[in-house]
Amino acid sequence: MIRTGLGYDIHRLKRGRRFLLGGIEIPFSKGLDGHSDADALAHAVMDALLGACALGDIGELFPPSDPAYKDADSMELLRNVVERVRQSGWNVVNLDCVIICEKPKVLPYRDVIRKSLALVLEIPVECISLKGKTAEGLGSAGKGKAVEVLVTCLVQKIIS
Ligand code: MG
Repeated sequence: MIRTGLGYDIHRLKRGRRFLLGGIEIPFSKGLDGHSDADALAHAVMDALLGACALGDIGELFPPSDPAYKDADSMELLRNVVERVRQSGWNVVNLDCVIICEKPKVLPYRDVIRKSLALVLEIPVECISLKGKTAEGLGSAGKGKAVEVLVTCLVQKIIS
């Protein structure tokens, strides 16, 4: 049995915040604003996995209204989600991720981010694709006000 999942996230860019993607900090004049550490890639990956397994979404599992998740380490939350996915009998096959932002350039950090995700998902790095994309000056991402992330994943379950 195979299933696909889709995850999406958007966070505002703000001075004085860290710019984290997949647990890797990218040096930049602004960072991602949010209740947790605002790691938009980790958030979109979680929603893709939860979506594929029909296990809900991160807003439901880790509500931003809960003070426990203030400045939360999103990669720790991802670890929790991966555990839930496994407990349900699903194995992650691959991820395809798109980061939409004007600046900074994601390409120099692509492989270290892929490795960081592969470590938590416990799948080969070759099964994780990451692409940076600019928005041609259009919309909030294009105007440098936000970063958007899209992630698709495939999961499989062996039924005997
Ligand atoms: Mg988010």
